[in-house]
Amino acid sequence: MNYRVCLLLLWGLPGWAVASSCSLLIVGDSLSSGYGLAPGTSWVAKLDARLKKSAPDWRVVNASVSGDTTQNGVQRLQPALDRQRPQGVLIELGGNDALRGIPPAEIKRNLQTLIRQSRAAGAWVVLFDVPVLPNYGKPYAHPPERSSTGADARRGVADAAAGTALSGEKAMSDATCPCGSGRTLSACCGRYHEGEPAPDAEALMRSRYSAYVLGLEAYLNATWHPDSRPASLALDAPPRPQWLGLAIRSHTQQDDRHATVEFVARYKLNGRAFKQHEVSRFQKVAGRWLYVDGETGE
Ligand SMILES: [Zn+2]
Repeated sequence: MNYRVCLLLLWGLPGWAVASSCSLLIVGDSLSSGYGLAPGTSWVAKLDARLKKSAPDWRVVNASVSGDTTQNGVQRLQPALDRQRPQGVLIELGGNDALRGIPPAEIKRNLQTLIRQSRAAGAWVVLFDVPVLPNYGKPYAHPPERSSTGADARRGVADAAAGTALSGEKAMSDATCPCGSGRTLSACCGRYHEGEPAPDAEALMRSRYSAYVLGLEAYLNATWHPDSRPASLALDAPPRPQWLGLAIRSHTQQDDRHATVEFVARYKLNGRAFKQHEVSRFQKVAGRWLYVDGETGE
């Protein structure tokens, strides 16, 4: 049925006879690019495989780039529309915007532009609800209304097929990692939170930042050197900072058991923005990197 819809669309266009397939353009970030996942396991690869069976005239064109924001999408969409002339566009962007603290109004504006550009190119649009970690605050908790962004609520082939391809899959329920790597949480810091030893001090530093964002106090304790570990972190005590992003400036390994990582973490406290610039010391004990202490600057 889906592919008949596609043929109908094509019959209405001049030169339809030369067009042998309908294309579905996917504009997303790491959740769609499959970054950190084994080949063939991303939701896009699964959708593609499913369409090959159920609607062979449809072709999936994946224009997703790890770490992309809605602004990157605005820059990349038009050339992709010109090149691919897709019948449908699936937009999965916004998670990285939230991680970088981009104001929701700006995200909404960019999404509106993406939708407008797609429609102007004759494509229907499906806008994905992008999962954002709850601690990013209320402004990000609700995706822009479909009506206000003008997203096409029509249930096209993409929606139906994606729904089937995604049912029971973890890919789309996995948020982008708070450390800013552009990977999904489970492919990045989540592995270390679940017990895998961090391979180096920088990976541990990133996973500890993510643990602050996620409120994983037990992980922070477990990765803190026992000689300098505080009695309690009281992460839940108000006011809770709203973490906005992490930038690693340098990672220096002095020997196989000692390393330093310089970073800047940005956060908001009671509505005011702050920066934490720190050079942290790490030590490897019994095969695991641990945070020892740090010097803050600026
Ligand atoms: Zn991470």
